Amino acid sequence: MITIAIANQKGGVGKTTTAINLATGLAATGLRVLLVDLDPQGNASTGLGIGQSDRVHSSYDLLVGNCALEDAVIPTRVPKLDIVPATQDLSGAEIELIDYEQRTHRLNRVLDEAPPARWDVCLIDCPPSLGLLTINAMVAAQSLLVPLQCEFFALEGLSQLLQTVERIRSRFNTGLSILGVALTMYDKRNRLTDQVADDVRAVLGDLVFTTVIPRNVRLSEAPSHGVPALIYDFRCSGSEAYMSLSRELIARLPRQEAAA
Ligand code: ADP
Ligand code: MG
Repeated sequence: MITIAIANQKGGVGKTTTAINLATGLAATGLRVLLVDLDPQGNASTGLGIGQSDRVHSSYDLLVGNCALEDAVIPTRVPKLDIVPATQDLSGAEIELIDYEQRTHRLNRVLDEAPPARWDVCLIDCPPSLGLLTINAMVAAQSLLVPLQCEFFALEGLSQLLQTVERIRSRFNTGLSILGVALTMYDKRNRLTDQVADDVRAVLGDLVFTTVIPRNVRLSEAPSHGVPALIYDFRCSGSEAYMSLSRELIARLPRQEAAA
């Protein structure tokens, strides 16, 4: 199982939308996917139709050691896609975990226990901060996917994110790599977003996925129906883009995972 953290400390850049639709896109290609909702907002859980009453155990329980991974995993209505939901108590975890031993490795330890043949890919939807939750995700992951919104301040904050990655690499997780940067909310009629996309590519080069995710109202409507855009309207431009991003991501994965 390869674990990919979807991280950016800015809110509203498309992390959760990417987590839900990439997870669905990867599952649609036949990969078995586990999505870990690590944001106290629980938007990935809600967006996949997991109601509050379904969230018997959550990512919080895993982090504090209340239950085993298998107890927290629930299937979604998307074939081959399982989720560990998030609940409100996760918002206290950043503080609570400070007193725990190995506080940066809590999620890593849990995911290490995953039965080796059960999932091919694990995606982690991170909260909008570089706190202990995101650090747990970066320690548990082999790779990072960074959604970047096509707006004027897109690159602002990226150096802080890269610094954090560097620190995690040198202290906890030497193998952590950046799988790619995904440009989101691209609007082809808006020259500014075009300019931003060009600037980001000039700075980050091949790190940026060729696929850009367009601004598409279907992507923002789907969560209120509790289904991924790829099910809500698989023909919309957003769904097509996330299918394309899924294929691009698979091509960047180490071979054994991509072959499943
Ligand atoms: P984050 O998880 O980084 O906070 P979200 O994925 O929740 O970001 O996106 C923030 C808001 O923007 C949500 O309301 C979401 O539905 C909307 N959104 C995300 N991506 C797109 C897109 N490509 N087109 C239109 N709306 C989008
Ligand atoms: Mg989110």
